[in-house]
Amino acid sequence: MLYQARHRYILSQKELLRELEVVCTTKAGEEIWVEFSCSAVQTELEGLYDFVYIGRDITERKQEELEIRRSLAKEQELRQVKSRFFSMLAHEFGNPLNIVLFATQILKEYGDEITNEEKQEYLEHVKSASKHMAQLLDDVRLLSSAEAGKLKFNPAPVDLPKFCSELVESIKISYGQNHKINFTCRKSLPPAKQTERESEQTQKWSALDAKLLRHILTNLLSNAVKYSPIDSYIDFELNCHHEKATFKIKDAGIGIPIEDQEQLFESYYRAQNVGKIPGTGLGLSIVKQCVDLHGGQIEFSSETGLGTTFIVTIPFYK
Ligand code: ADP
Repeated sequence: MLYQARHRYILSQKELLRELEVVCTTKAGEEIWVEFSCSAVQTELEGLYDFVYIGRDITERKQEELEIRRSLAKEQELRQVKSRFFSMLAHEFGNPLNIVLFATQILKEYGDEITNEEKQEYLEHVKSASKHMAQLLDDVRLLSSAEAGKLKFNPAPVDLPKFCSELVESIKISYGQNHKINFTCRKSLPPAKQTERESEQTQKWSALDAKLLRHILTNLLSNAVKYSPIDSYIDFELNCHHEKATFKIKDAGIGIPIEDQEQLFESYYRAQNVGKIPGTGLGLSIVKQCVDLHGGQIEFSSETGLGTTFIVTIPFYK
C-alpha cells in the first residue's frame, strides 16, 4: 500500500531529506511498518519547496528480516553449543581414555613384573575411568532425548520426605563424604489434621516423576558438593505446602560469576571460575528439562566466593 503526504517548507536543511521507517497503527488497531521517502519539489517561489512523502507498507519485509535475524542467531547458538560439546568431549573423554590406554599398556608390557596388588590398582583405574565415560554417554543421551522431546513424564506416587532423605544418604556415600549435608523437611499442614491428611497429601504427590526428580536433585546436590570446600555445610530444605513442593539447596562454595549466570542452563556451558574442578556442563541443562517436564520452575542466586542457592518449585496435581 502507498501513502502520500505533502507540505511546504523553506528548504535550507537538505539533510532532512531521508528515508524513514516507522511503526504506525492502522484504524483497525493493527501495527504496521511504513517506510517513508521524502522528496523536495521546487515551488514557483525560489527557496520554497514542497515536500512529498511517500509511505510504503513494509511489514512483510520487516517480518522476513526478523525471521532471518532469528535464524542467524539460532545458527550461531548451535555453533557455540557444538564447539562447547567438542571441547567437553576432548577434555572429559580424553582424560579417562588416556588412563585406560596407559593402564592397559602397563599391564600388557609389565604384567609379569608387577605385583598382584599393583595389577589390581591399574584395573581399578580402568574400571573407574570406563565408568566415568559411560556416565558421560548416559548424560549426553539423556539430554539429547530430552531436547528431542523424547523424555517422558511418568507420574507415580512418591513419598517425598522419604525419597529425599534416602537420596541424601546416597549422595553422601557417592560424592559427599567430606561435606555436611543437612536435610530438613517442612510440611505446612495443621498439626491436628496431620495424620488424616497425610494420605491425601501422598496422593497429591502422584504428579511427580521419581526418575526425573532424581536427576534434578542428584545434579543440584552433587554440584553443591563439587563446588564447595571440604567440610563446608550444604543445606537441603524440602517444603511441602498448598499445591507445590519447594526444594532449596544452599552451599557456601565458589559461587557463579554474574557474567555467567544468564547462560548457565545452556548445554555444555561452564562458568569461568571452575578452574580444575571437573565437569561437563550437562547437569543443569538436564535439570532444567526435567523441571520443565514437571511444569515447575528453577531459580538461583549466587555470589562469587559466597555460595549458591538453587530453588526448584514443582506443583502437585490432584
Ligand atoms: P558441570 O558441573 O558438570 O560443569 P552443570 O551443568 O551441572 O555442569 O553446571 C554448569 C555450570 O554451572 C558449572 O560448570 C558451574 O560453573 C556452575 N555451577 C553449577 N552449580 C554450581 C554451584 N552449586 N556452585 C558454583 N557453580 C555452580
